[in-house]
Amino acid sequence: MTSSKEIPVGSGQCLCGAVRFSLRVEPRFFYRCHCTLCRKQTGVGHNLATLVNTRDFQWDEGQDAITSWRKPSGYRNDFCSQCGSTVPNVLRETPYIWIPLGLLDTELNME
Ligand SMILES: [Zn+2]
Ligand SMILES: [Zn+2]
Repeated sequence: MTSSKEIPVGSGQCLCGAVRFSLRVEPRFFYRCHCTLCRKQTGVGHNLATLVNTRDFQWDEGQDAITSWRKPSGYRNDFCSQCGSTVPNVLRETPYIWIPLGLLDTELNME
């Protein structure tokens, strides 16, 4: 219940801006997946995402605009109901949230 005043180091939003979030850490791990599902999800050859601890992630706006589509296998695609952008989702049974890198407004150092 402590209200920390940590300044977000990153922020992101979907294509239309209805869904917004911020990060308290700089993403350091990048995750690329070329599986059939991710190719269809993104419409290109692979997705590119990062994982951060949920305590370093905050929804700023538009959580109610998110639609979640799931396969029985567990694969899921959460997206903005207005513009269709894939948006972050919490990985099952982990304290991590998966964030598509394309949503971030901040420049990334991917060295
Ligand atoms: Zn949107
Ligand atoms: Zn994949």
